[in-house]
Amino acid sequence: MAESLQADRTGTLYVVATPIGNLADISARAIEVLGAVDRIVAEDTRHSRKLLQHYALQTPMTALHEHNERELAPQLVEQLLQGASLAVISDAGTPLISDPGYTLVRLARAAGVRVIPVPGPSALTCALSGSGLPTDRFVFEGFLPAKRTARRHRLQQLAGESRTLVFYESSHRILAALQDMQAAFGAGRRAVIARELTKQFETIRGDTLAALRQWVAADPDQQKGEFVVLVQGVEAPEGDTVTADAEQLLRWLLEELPIKKAAKLAARITGINKRTLYDRALQLKQPD
Ligand code: SAM
Repeated sequence: MAESLQADRTGTLYVVATPIGNLADISARAIEVLGAVDRIVAEDTRHSRKLLQHYALQTPMTALHEHNERELAPQLVEQLLQGASLAVISDAGTPLISDPGYTLVRLARAAGVRVIPVPGPSALTCALSGSGLPTDRFVFEGFLPAKRTARRHRLQQLAGESRTLVFYESSHRILAALQDMQAAFGAGRRAVIARELTKQFETIRGDTLAALRQWVAADPDQQKGEFVVLVQGVEAPEGDTVTADAEQLLRWLLEELPIKKAAKLAARITGINKRTLYDRALQLKQPD
């Protein structure tokens, strides 16, 4: 009895998506939740105040960002356990998607607090849905490493990926990123740049990586704002795709056998091309 009373008194953590540019993109439910909770936990309170003012919301705010999340999250979970209801939001889009909130949600769930996501915009899904690239399977890579060597290494690792790749990029690295993508994936690989989505200068352009790089380099306006870069995956001929099951088998075999033998055996069991499995085995053996 005491336990159920305790459970009933526990507050709720709402994870609320907000617009990525166009303020009208907020959902009716998001506005309702933001107005009803005891406190909003925002990445940047000054930034979010504009959104709150726009919708005449007066809910108090607390800042939760990458520098204080580890320290603050346990205190917020304590407040939730004592019955407070909180809504976490980020500067734009869906919290936790390349944004703060992960530690808070993880701790809240571990403590038995109810977590309710309130869905809405994200640059990821917005860009994908308008890109014209395959969306049935995709890989979200978030931001690439800032340092060139690490960035090139990461892109190299992704060169054989058959799913659509999605990257976030900022204005000061867009050109360097496109250059490195061209080097890793080849000049002719198809890609889409989605810039300033939902805003006044929204631009969505698809072409080869070489053509896109040239186009961005030639026009300083195309280097401004926020970017999602989507790259089409490698089109693998039949029998040349390493399925998830085949990859797991390969991993197990690699624990016991040298690369060549593991690839040969995996090819015999799965019917997948031996060379493809050998290349995948080499990648799996490579230290990150
Ligand atoms: N949580 C956000 C989401 O759900 O999309 C992403 C936050 S992340 C810190 C910011 C990055 O998202 C930007 O650097 C850019 O790559 C991408 N982004 C955010 N808003 C965008 C927009 N309106 N147009 C294009 N990209 C955007």
